Amino acid sequence: MIGLGANLGLREQTLASAAHALSVLAQVELCALSRVYESEAVGPPQPRYLNAAVRVHAELSADELFERLLAIEAAHGRVRLLRWGPRTLDLDILWSDTAAASTRLEVPHASLCERTFALAPLLDVAPELAPRYGARLSELGGAPEVLGRLVHSADGDVRFESAP
Ligand code: ADP
Ligand code: MG
Repeated sequence: MIGLGANLGLREQTLASAAHALSVLAQVELCALSRVYESEAVGPPQPRYLNAAVRVHAELSADELFERLLAIEAAHGRVRLLRWGPRTLDLDILWSDTAAASTRLEVPHASLCERTFALAPLLDVAPELAPRYGARLSELGGAPEVLGRLVHSADGDVRFESAP
């Protein structure tokens, strides 16, 4: 399960484009797309974030998948200037069904249990994790505002659809 975040530029388009980029990766199959949530940024003052999550089935190690995530972040103009600073795109491995043998990465993501903007979309694409994280999401105040959702269209593209 991969978390997507954006707080600069055309945020909806960036999330849809990143989900599409994931879907066309070799050895990666896109299984589910979450709703899109908007929330206040954590860290230094900066624009509000949009967040979503995608569920993928990947025939890759966590490290190999993360290398591809970094390339997609870079292709969407991410520049790392400031820790927790604003970014056009942030891709995180939130959760994995398979044991992640990685020395560099922490999976589940280290901050997962502190972030409603990560937990809410994660539960959209992995409802089986509700017994584990549902109560935590409520404790933190529940899901952020829903702006819409990511949808996979018939032509294989991914687009943002506003909530009615
Ligand atoms: P954050 O995602 O916490 O807002 P960054 O995107 O700058 O901040 O990530 C900082 C570093 O966290 C990454 O460069 C990566 O090496 C490390 N990291 C550790 N575990 C994970 C994970 N599960 N998913 C993504 N990055 C991770
Ligand atoms: Mg990150």
